[in-house]
Amino acid sequence: MSTYDVVVIGGGHAGCEAAAAAARVGADTLLLTGSISTIGEMSCNPSIGGIAKGTVVKEVDALGGVMGLVADQASIHFRMLNKRKGPAVWGPRAQADRKLYRAAMQDIILHYKGLIVEEEMVEDVLISENSEANRVKAVVTTSGRCIYTKNVVVTTGTFLKGMILIGDKRIPAGRVNEKPATGLAENLVKLGFNILRFKTGTPPRIRKSTINFAGLERQPGDYPPVPFSYLNDKIERPQIDCFITHTSEKTRKIVLDNLSLSPVHQSDYKTLGPRYCVSITDRFVKFPKREKHQVFLEPEGLDSDLIYPSGIGCSFPENIQLKIVRSIPGLEEAEITRPGYNIEYDVVDSRELYRTLETKKISGLYLAGQINGTTGYEEAAGQGIIAGINAALSAKNPGEEFVLDRSEAYIGVMIDDLVTTGTSEPYRLFTSRSEYRLALRPDNADLRLTEKANKFSLISDQRLRRLLDKTKSMDRLKNVLSSVKITPAELQKHRINVSQDGVIRSGLELLQFPGVDLDRIGFLHEDLQDFSQEVIQQVEIEMKYKPYLSRQDLDIKLFRQKENIKIPQDINYDEVGGLSSEVKEKLEKFLPSSVGMASRIPGITPAAITSLIIYLKSRK
Ligand code: FAD
Repeated sequence: MSTYDVVVIGGGHAGCEAAAAAARVGADTLLLTGSISTIGEMSCNPSIGGIAKGTVVKEVDALGGVMGLVADQASIHFRMLNKRKGPAVWGPRAQADRKLYRAAMQDIILHYKGLIVEEEMVEDVLISENSEANRVKAVVTTSGRCIYTKNVVVTTGTFLKGMILIGDKRIPAGRVNEKPATGLAENLVKLGFNILRFKTGTPPRIRKSTINFAGLERQPGDYPPVPFSYLNDKIERPQIDCFITHTSEKTRKIVLDNLSLSPVHQSDYKTLGPRYCVSITDRFVKFPKREKHQVFLEPEGLDSDLIYPSGIGCSFPENIQLKIVRSIPGLEEAEITRPGYNIEYDVVDSRELYRTLETKKISGLYLAGQINGTTGYEEAAGQGIIAGINAALSAKNPGEEFVLDRSEAYIGVMIDDLVTTGTSEPYRLFTSRSEYRLALRPDNADLRLTEKANKFSLISDQRLRRLLDKTKSMDRLKNVLSSVKITPAELQKHRINVSQDGVIRSGLELLQFPGVDLDRIGFLHEDLQDFSQEVIQQVEIEMKYKPYLSRQDLDIKLFRQKENIKIPQDINYDEVGGLSSEVKEKLEKFLPSSVGMASRIPGITPAAITSLIIYLKSRK
């Protein structure tokens, strides 16, 4: 009889991170997935990162995860989005070769120390019947095998009762040509979880050799490409260009004339889709005054004859999809190799979870990824790593947990949003979701998280060494910069105008002025030539943001004070004076773990929080 510490169900972006993280913590881990050949599949766009999402990839990497390493191996077009704005909202993004991405992920996961991978669909999660609290006991696969385990992480993406919609066709599927997970979906209903129904969609794929690229705007990647992983210094793989075209007046007419044929625009259709990843129909319906919309033509791989046309996702019948495609400049003769489609699927109400991503109803059962109502590979990976670590800790070091708060990471922001307020539509990360975004930048995820990960043995010696080398080098650069002083008059001789106040300033102070970077003040000391671009950029950003970060530090201190007032899970809210029945009901339902978290539940008033603090102090 096989018994594991952790069984992870699903080999998508959440599942791979969960399984790898659990194994890193030292848990005997089994990954069960519908098909080994689709481990690391990118269900939609073959791209990783973006604004806020790219920061999550860096956070996953800083915690020892695999997504950044795989993206670096497989990507063929890197771009830093938002580069014209401040570093807090930069978004590292890369277009990956879909085949290479899958291969690189499979290579890592199939050879991961402490991790066994098997190809099996899971039908059922069995719960221990004789313990006081409900607790996971085993999983049962479609082939009838019962596998005993202390903890289960479910990461089944869009597979729970997945249903593909194309025109009037309804095809039960988890993704195109893959069976849905129906048994497991029913099992979750039986276990009493509150289930919601969401949808997402993907555009048709186009044969590259049928596109006329002449006259289309070429979009080259960044040179040199900057890797995601803190373990990598450079990208060796050849890079290729993307192209941009636009919809035409004809496109608009075809879309609007055929709205009734799009299943998701029929009047009785209620399932909610991602607000910010809009289909071509939504683009014309929601922005009727926009004459045209951008369409990015993104190659699916180095030797692939497929183009992913980002921006024209839809679920029209196939003949209408072809008309839409051919109404777009450059695509007049294009062939569709696979139609676009929408997919509906079940998700679990994320307020059923603790911040460890363990369910409140069943001990040892963790959920991560699209199943929690999020959309996106990065959001899935960010949850996967947290669920995997905590499932493993619960088996190896009961009582310990690994959580990130809103001031530490975007992963913390996302999980806090999910478990505190839940989501009624597919949840995606943005920089605007974070109140501490000046501190949560893609450049400093290693400085924020790697040491914390090290305390839980989550990272390799190599990663820790690189972090220590970086911080040492940053300190040395700051020392050199602090040691050199210069007057405004002398600076002017080098055509640097800071302020004519006569104040002598150090090189470090000068970096706070707009337009002053190390390149311009490199003449101050010969040692300033010795530092890596990564270290220089880090110090420059820290100095530019210093005044704002100091203010933000105060906010973070106040935030942490409230987070640190813990609410015991056995609290009796009837004993707390001054709470209305509505407030009491909400607190009992959401079981916040701290006063900070309670204060973010919609409808919990400041007066209720004061009563709660007074009660908790008196109880102490
Ligand atoms: P997935 O990557 O879906 O992985 C699920 C895994 O679970 C698969 O390996 C599957 O085989 C396995 N599995 C399922 N059930 C079982 C079972 N019972 N037993 C064993 N294994 C099982 N995101 C965006 O950000 N933007 C988009 O535009 C977008 N469009 C999308 C369009 C489509 C058609 C689809 C399907 C997804 C789209 N997504 C999009 C979502 C994106 O693909 C997901 O957010 C992401 O892949 C979620 O990762 P995950 O690990 O949760 O699940």
